Amino acid sequence: MKVLEKQLIINLKSRFFDLIDTDSGLLSYEQFLQEMLFIVKGFIRADEVTLFNCNEWKHEWFVEASTNEKLKFDIEISPILCEEIRSIFSKVCVLHKPISLAGLENYDLVLQLRRGEQFHGYLAIKGITDCPCPDDLIVEVAKECSNFLHKAQVICNVVFEEKRYKQLFRVTEKFHSSMDMDAVLGEIIYTLKEVYPSFTYYLMLSQDNNSHGDLPIKDLEYDSENITAMQAYVTGTIQLEDSLLEKRSILYAPLKGKQGVYGVLQVIAPNTMTFPKNEVEFITLLANTAGSALENAQLYQQSRRLITDLQLINETSHRLNSNLRLTESINFMAGQIKESFGAEEIGFVLVSEDFEQLKVIKGSTEFFFADESEHYLHFIVERIKRERDSIFIGDLTIDCEPIRFRSLMAVPMVQTGLIIGFVVVLHHNPYRFTFETFKLLQALIHHSTLAFTNSMLREELERLVITDQLTKLHSRNYLNEKIHQSMKEDAYGAYILIDIDDFKKINDTYGHQVGDEVLVQVASILMDNIRDTDVAARWGGEELAIYLPKIQSDVALIIAERLVKKVREQTNPSVTISCGVSFWRKEYSNDTFTKLFKRADNALYIAKETGKNKVVVQENIDINE
Ligand code: GH3
Ligand code: MG
Ligand code: MG
Repeated sequence: MKVLEKQLIINLKSRFFDLIDTDSGLLSYEQFLQEMLFIVKGFIRADEVTLFNCNEWKHEWFVEASTNEKLKFDIEISPILCEEIRSIFSKVCVLHKPISLAGLENYDLVLQLRRGEQFHGYLAIKGITDCPCPDDLIVEVAKECSNFLHKAQVICNVVFEEKRYKQLFRVTEKFHSSMDMDAVLGEIIYTLKEVYPSFTYYLMLSQDNNSHGDLPIKDLEYDSENITAMQAYVTGTIQLEDSLLEKRSILYAPLKGKQGVYGVLQVIAPNTMTFPKNEVEFITLLANTAGSALENAQLYQQSRRLITDLQLINETSHRLNSNLRLTESINFMAGQIKESFGAEEIGFVLVSEDFEQLKVIKGSTEFFFADESEHYLHFIVERIKRERDSIFIGDLTIDCEPIRFRSLMAVPMVQTGLIIGFVVVLHHNPYRFTFETFKLLQALIHHSTLAFTNSMLREELERLVITDQLTKLHSRNYLNEKIHQSMKEDAYGAYILIDIDDFKKINDTYGHQVGDEVLVQVASILMDNIRDTDVAARWGGEELAIYLPKIQSDVALIIAERLVKKVREQTNPSVTISCGVSFWRKEYSNDTFTKLFKRADNALYIAKETGKNKVVVQENIDINE
């Protein structure tokens, strides 16, 4: 080469060097390329310099960059042309007047830009007829262009890598500051979209029951048809799947933490035969970071849930052990379950030892007192009787029939090895309860059964104390208590003392047992004819008594007369009763329970003396007596 030409080349190199100087602000490969073409255009005084390239995958002969902005891009060509050009350039370095090559007919010169194995494209030059350059200078220009493009690519890669690792750093920082699963998942997608906007992403999660808004999440199922995804999940290693047919390449990166794999990140790269290798490393790093972040978030959420579960159990047992009445206990439990589990119906059911009899306890929701619930209860009892275990059903059908409540949990209450009942929780949506909720319900019932049975036993005992064994009427003590209470709280009340007439004769005629039966008959007639707030008691022997709080004497008289009539008509063998009625009012401040009783006793005496089978009301209130 002549000295002048050498000088020219040094000049060209120095101009290229100026471009590489990063202070010039060029950082993208496209920009470097564009600037280079303009320098070449000026250097050889051409009208147009264009870099062509060949995409064998798409069979496209396309303009990668040009000094002519209006130049049409993407010319479809046969693969034969690419092959033809390649074969030409294996023999020559500079091609003059390539008239026979489609798309290049109007160019004066075509050069191949290649540096060893690295191929950059074909440089086509137009409009240099009046300025002929010697071929060896042209070849030198091509060499320098190749060198320059190689350097530009290296710089761009470094800059790009730096940017990506900054992203990775930022995302890692964000992951570790968040304990929210959704935030972590969202961040993964966001970062990938930023770095590779042309790829498509999906998060394939295993055992995921949560909704994640609009995140691109797929279920990862064991029986999934996507074998490659499953392989990534099971082996915990990156898997690649190239589909020649669909012209895309898919990467599966496991989201791996220290304790397990939490899902798989699916990255789809379109229009490529193989997944870009340098991207695999970055995506792997991101997936691993995401895996540990997911693990942290999941562990955190688990521990939070565990704490709330324990708090619930603790609070419930504490409340139940603080001597609540049974109904209060049940109401409290039902409230807790409704709130914590989002249940719709809650039933507390006692079962007899042979599972033949059921009793829904007060405090259960209304549904369990309606006929519709029988279907469910029957189903549960049969299952518990057979399996002696809890039931957890996500989509319930009974006898193959669809049913109103689809989610069901039932947990038996076990007391010293014996099933004494069960708690059932329902919701109309299928799969409403998670397995964790089920476990929690079991723990809750397990911890509260003892408190329940204690409340039940205590109340049974109390009932025994206040009830007469034969007649099931209240005991005399209970009646006394209620009268005392009423005389304190109410304004007035009435008292009816009842004695069966000639009862001795009944015993003598029919025997003691029939006498007992008649006594029970009379008691039940009394019970049927008074209100819940009235108290009927066995006063002793064949004497009975009724206290009617907030009842005036005239009404008490009517009630007593009705009782006399009903007993006469409804007993078998028929007996009659005599009643003495007394009453009290707040105005007579000296009145007492003893006096009230005595007045009734006097009235009853008069009734007996004057023919029995009748009612006598106290004559006067002589409270000073
Ligand atoms: P009247 O009250 O009309 O004056 O005659 P009476 O025969 O009912 O009166 P009395 O007080 O003389 O007798 C009450 C009888 O009631 C005596 C007792 O055998 C009987 N009696 C008391 N308690 C029971 C009981 O729990 N079962 C049976 N079968 N009889 C009882
Ligand atoms: Mg008597
Ligand atoms: Mg009697």
